[in-house]
Amino acid sequence: MHATRSASHTFRLSARGFSTVTRRQAPSGLRINPDRLWETLHKTCEWGAAHRYGEKPTETGMARLTLTDDDARVRSWFAAEVKKLGCTLSVDQMGNMFARQQGSLKSSAPMIAMGSHLDTQPRGGRYDGILGVIAALEVLRTMKESGFETNYDVGIVNWTNEEGARFPKSMCSSGVWAGAIPIEKAWDLRDIHNPHVTLRSELERHGYLGDIPCASDEQFGYPLGAHFELHIEQGPILEETGRSIGVVQGAQGYRWFTIIVHGKDAHTGTTPLSTRKDPVLAASKMIAASNEIASRHNALVSTGIFRVPSNASTNTLATNVTFTLDIRHPNDSVVSAVQEDIFEAFATIASQDGKGVSFDWTLDTDSPAAKFDQNCVASVQAAADHLVGPEKSMLMTSGAGHDTVYTSKHCPSAMIFVPCREGVSHHPTEYCSPQDCALGTQALLEAVVHYDQFRTKSENS
Ligand SMILES: [Zn+2]
Repeated sequence: MHATRSASHTFRLSARGFSTVTRRQAPSGLRINPDRLWETLHKTCEWGAAHRYGEKPTETGMARLTLTDDDARVRSWFAAEVKKLGCTLSVDQMGNMFARQQGSLKSSAPMIAMGSHLDTQPRGGRYDGILGVIAALEVLRTMKESGFETNYDVGIVNWTNEEGARFPKSMCSSGVWAGAIPIEKAWDLRDIHNPHVTLRSELERHGYLGDIPCASDEQFGYPLGAHFELHIEQGPILEETGRSIGVVQGAQGYRWFTIIVHGKDAHTGTTPLSTRKDPVLAASKMIAASNEIASRHNALVSTGIFRVPSNASTNTLATNVTFTLDIRHPNDSVVSAVQEDIFEAFATIASQDGKGVSFDWTLDTDSPAAKFDQNCVASVQAAADHLVGPEKSMLMTSGAGHDTVYTSKHCPSAMIFVPCREGVSHHPTEYCSPQDCALGTQALLEAVVHYDQFRTKSENS
């Protein structure tokens, strides 16, 4: 609350023990129902609840991997709820679900979408993705019960397999929609625990292999007029700086590599250091060097996988080592510079110890930095300004990948971040407070209404 504002200009989203104080009356004149939001979110988390960590009913994580039986249950619940609201529901060939509410213009132009994902990591939380879809539903419920109509059609997208945990490709179906991933490749992804099960066979089993081609194309796909995504930050910045809304203007670029360092197995007791070809030593130095190079460029570099052959032994030097690198920065040119410096350093390190090692590498993923649409970002900014004021919001760049990164290539897009406790995500204890869930949802509603008005003005002027 701000001293410069009169009390009559503040309003309270309050419900059973929690309240969210916002700066003043929301410009849409609508008010989401925080209780209903919270209850709906946690009710749907009964499908896939796992990894209990506390006493309260909501103190569990989630294991709702894409296209499992629990995912199918939440999908059919979602389908029923949007139909109750009078939405039309379309399903494309990747099982993406598009719920659409007609606007007052009865325009056939692509809808303004609020999208995210209902699937989770195997040891995931209750908010990553789920909040974005349930918040979107709460926005439509609020509009419906107030008799409020947007000008253009508005709706919700539940993107299939965003997590890429069961079928290993993240942002899988928004990637197909955006034309970045061939559908045959996505359909053929194998369940990581059962190579006989493919993404396509699971779509078929649950009845989610839709008729509509998965594409942003106007002619035959399901184009979108805009895409807004509410998501937990998955990092600590909002919480640490005491802000409640992140206005996300883009996403970091990243590249993933696999490096194989080839050495020679040899007896550890009889082989002098000077004659060794030790891949573990070289790989360790490479990883340390990559970290130093990243910090020099103010970028991020990480190794998540480090593998020696399973028949390695304590008293034998390993034959080879495989490790991964994940380079990230908001500027693609910095990602390239870091990559260049790293492989130069690796070449030097490879020749350093003993008789040296050799290495080769592959580029597994190249995701360029995304810059979100100015007008969508402005709509989120306007929502944040109205709800919490500039001192409680901030411009941010997403560190993680999201479906919005792909939609942003084909339609105006932006994201809203809300804080999560200690920045924890992809973990059962992931938590976003009821206040922050409600505030983010109200911001989503305001951003959509603001953008709808902007679109009406700009397309009819
Ligand atoms: Zn997510």
